[in-house]
Amino acid sequence: MLEVLRRIVEEVNNASNLDKALAVIVHRVKEAMSVDVCSVYLTDEIQQQHVLMATEGLNPESVGNIRLAIDEGLVSLVASRAEPVNLGNAPEHPRYYYFPETGEEKFNGFLGVPIIHHRQVLGVLIVQSTRSEKFDEESETFLITIASQLAGAMAHAAASGEIERIVQGTDDSIDNSKPLSGLPGAPGVAMGTAVVVYPMANLKSIPDKYIDDVEEEIEVFNRAVETVRNEITALSSRLTEVLPTEDKALFDAYLLMLDSDSLGGETIANIRKGNWASGALRTTILDHVKVFREMDDPYLSERADDIYDLGQRVLAHIQQTNQKQFDYPDETILVGEEISASILAEVPSEKLKGVVSARGSSTSHVAILARALGIPAVMGAKDLPVSRIDGRPIIADGYSGNVFVSPSRTVREEYKKLAREEAELSTELLTLRDQPAVTKDNVHIHLFANTGLLSDVTPSLNSGAEGIGLYRTEFPFMIRQRFPSEEEQYKIYRQVLEAFHPRPVTLRTLDVGGDKPLSYFPIEEDNPFLGWRGIRITLDHPEIFLVQVRAMMRASIGLNNLNILLPMISTVAELVDSKFFINRAYEELLEEGLDVQMPRLGVMIEVPSAVYQADNLARRVDFFSIGTNDLTQYLLAVDRNNANVAELYDSLQPAVLQAIYQTVESAKRNNIPVSVCGEMAGDPAAALVLIGMGVDSLSMSASSLTRVKWVIRNISMKRAEELLSEVLQMEDALTIRQFLNSRFEVSGMGGLVRAGK
Ligand code: PEP
Ligand code: MG
Repeated sequence: MLEVLRRIVEEVNNASNLDKALAVIVHRVKEAMSVDVCSVYLTDEIQQQHVLMATEGLNPESVGNIRLAIDEGLVSLVASRAEPVNLGNAPEHPRYYYFPETGEEKFNGFLGVPIIHHRQVLGVLIVQSTRSEKFDEESETFLITIASQLAGAMAHAAASGEIERIVQGTDDSIDNSKPLSGLPGAPGVAMGTAVVVYPMANLKSIPDKYIDDVEEEIEVFNRAVETVRNEITALSSRLTEVLPTEDKALFDAYLLMLDSDSLGGETIANIRKGNWASGALRTTILDHVKVFREMDDPYLSERADDIYDLGQRVLAHIQQTNQKQFDYPDETILVGEEISASILAEVPSEKLKGVVSARGSSTSHVAILARALGIPAVMGAKDLPVSRIDGRPIIADGYSGNVFVSPSRTVREEYKKLAREEAELSTELLTLRDQPAVTKDNVHIHLFANTGLLSDVTPSLNSGAEGIGLYRTEFPFMIRQRFPSEEEQYKIYRQVLEAFHPRPVTLRTLDVGGDKPLSYFPIEEDNPFLGWRGIRITLDHPEIFLVQVRAMMRASIGLNNLNILLPMISTVAELVDSKFFINRAYEELLEEGLDVQMPRLGVMIEVPSAVYQADNLARRVDFFSIGTNDLTQYLLAVDRNNANVAELYDSLQPAVLQAIYQTVESAKRNNIPVSVCGEMAGDPAAALVLIGMGVDSLSMSASSLTRVKWVIRNISMKRAEELLSEVLQMEDALTIRQFLNSRFEVSGMGGLVRAGK
């Protein structure tokens, strides 16, 4: 049964649309379970009906025509209970509803399971049999598993309007009055043209895309095939000496497959049907992979992988051509399943207006980068119909997480107005740039900028930041092909320290691992966020750590505005060991005759164990910096990049607030300053709470700085403390956010926490 399940899942995933996926399911399930009928009903939310969408066993003409009211029949019983219904004699059940046109009177055995996605019932999957007996447990679990697989495909189709189109027979247009919902990624509103980007060379994830110029697409494909053909020929002749003859024959087989009467010819035929080269190639390759995989001969079945690899190679070249030719529109909004930092960097900065990513959340590093660049971003828009929106007008609301594809005129007008107000608000806030961040009762909250890009230093300087509160040194490491040398690092750090001198600059030691991989230092782990990350790596590689802290200390010679910050500290021992290496680097530099000063040293409090050890850590350092991005992830057990659980990720959760508060109190007890450098610090509502707790400084992306400064200048410490004590009484993040947002509306600054002014 497992093997059958695997095959069905693979076929469903490869189906190019929902119709095909449903046809596969009803056919395969009927066959695998040896039942007489398998059908799928979809829930039509608008008409409040369950519609028969696919069947094998019932009269095929009834598809699309059988519609049950939301409380009618056994189908709705399954949907309303949201659990399986298993009956030996269905016609005797009081909820049984008979449709003569289906011809189902002869079926007694009935098993229906709900198709559920994120707690919502999208439809019902049913099998029926002439036998008058209930289905066994194995059948039930099999059907539940199939339904769960179907749920993802259906949710996607629901969001793209495909279900609505199928059940209501409407046209192909995307519903443009309802937004798709994602998560706020970076504040601001972006209006422009969607440019869909795909991950490099991942054949399975390539969607269909309809094209006008067939001949040009064939040309692109032919050129890619030619390049691959040359690569293979070259590889084959290089390996003549070392490979056995039968393996060499494989290369010849590859060359034959690429020929016009094999994979090549079929792909061109698919392009002629109107699909772009990448999509046409995907169809051909996956069809062949399936045929080979199903072969009984193990040798032949393994060849499926070779065909897939061959397809990947051709795809990589097609994508390179596409990329080279690409001319970004003036108002580009990048849209994709996953937007990487390198794709972001590829778009000329004057053209990049927004980012919409199907994966990730507001604390993913791409969102952090977007915020650093001052570009609105929506993350985790997981139901995005990626294949159908390239080139369409699009609006991304980085405050609410809403995305409008081909927005109606009313929506467009509304957002134009909001964007105008937003620009006015930013200009007004800019006047605060040179004003101090003091509360009404004269408490100075120091505001710093987060950065990690050299290009980012100027906006940080211009934002009125009092220094750099967090310089993420991993970015310069990520954009290279190898570890940067001490000299290279020295130059980067020196530029930042000089640019801000005499203001302080906090350089964090390398924090790779988790979602920040280095291509030249691969780490394969099942649980990267709980694995080898941050200080754990650098303590295991003193050569990397020592080079980095030497470069930092040298860069500060004569300036002496350096703070060093240690990421991911989870035990006192890690801090003690880090201090040992920092001292060693310091001694070495002194011995080399350099006039270095011992920098101030801080730890990030971003792992829950560090919160409980705060007093012991505080005694050994000069300052704390609370990394709320990771602290939230680890306290709530919610992966900061996983869109499936992103709704659970909220730094305003009472548990997170309590942990931050405890850390602040510990810093106060030990007379060291405490800063917050996670994304929360740049959120005006959250900043109110943090000020009330008594944090000394907040560090955020430069684009958020004046907004937070406005908050500080318009509140007294006493009032912030009062708000905090109210917030600490509340039991969930939503209530807290609504409460804080309402405070902004009351004081006429709702524009800080939503689009508009
Ligand atoms: C944090 O975890 O809050 C933080 C500032 O570090 P990073 O986002 O780089 O993990
Ligand atoms: Mg962190």
